[in-house]
Formats: sequence, structure tokens, C-alpha cells
Amino acid sequence: MTAESCVFCGIVAGDIEASTLYADDTVMAFMDLKPMTAGHLLVVPRRHAAGLDDLPDADGRQLWSVAHLLARAMRGSGLRCEGVNLFVADGKAAWQEVLHVHIHVIPRFRGDGMRIHADFPDRDRAQLDADAAAIRDAAATLEDATGTVT
Ligand SMILES: [Zn+2]
Repeated sequence: MTAESCVFCGIVAGDIEASTLYADDTVMAFMDLKPMTAGHLLVVPRRHAAGLDDLPDADGRQLWSVAHLLARAMRGSGLRCEGVNLFVADGKAAWQEVLHVHIHVIPRFRGDGMRIHADFPDRDRAQLDADAAAIRDAAATLEDATGTVT
């Protein structure tokens, strides 16, 4: 998907209608057309980035900052909200449908019907340590990494 054919870029450009609730120079937020629960919204970077690998670090920080703000606002909005899920799907295998990075902010309440099915297999300490090492080694090669890789 290119920026020219991207529905979220169309919303950012004002060419596609959306119920927008936040905009700054870096990100926008608007209501999901098919909400999992009432109030389900999306926060997107203005600049097209198909996935997390394409997302500039500064855009990612602002994306998180606004998702955090709106998740906190959700609880005081009057919409039914006993909890909030923040959800990012990165890649088709992870259920990403629109290939423009977005954070879902989803109000939750008991009995809302949402489920994630997983096997939750046990992994022993050696496996967990090996997994951590593999991810740590990969993180150390990323130029955007600013934290301490231990
Ligand atoms: Zn886009």
C-alpha cells in the first residue's frame, strides 16, 4: 500500500471523512468506523509509515503520547469505560489491516465480548533467556535505540 492509496493518508489530507478528535503537527486521532466498543479510536502519524520499521522515532513518541492522553480521557468521557486496551497490529500476521501505523485505543468493560485466543505455552528460563538475548542483540543494531540494552 502506498501513501497515495492509503485510507489513513486520505483522512490526514482531509479527502476522506472522519470523526476527528485530536490533531497536531505529527499525529491525528479519529473514531474507528467499525468500533470493537463505542469510543474505539485510532491514533495515526500524519506521515505515512506502513509499519513500525518505517516509523521515525519522534513520530512514535508522539503517537504514544497522544494515545496515552486519549486513553486517560476515555475514562472521563461518559462513554462506558472500565478499562482501556492500547493495541498495535504490526504486519499482516499480527492482524494489521490498514498498512499505516496506528494505535487502537479501545474502551473496555466487563462483558464487552472482546477476546484474544492464545495457547500461552510454557517456556523455561533457558528459553526465555535465549529469547531475550536474540531480541537484545537485534535492538542493539537499531539506530533509533536510545535506552540501555542490558
Ligand atoms: Zn498512509
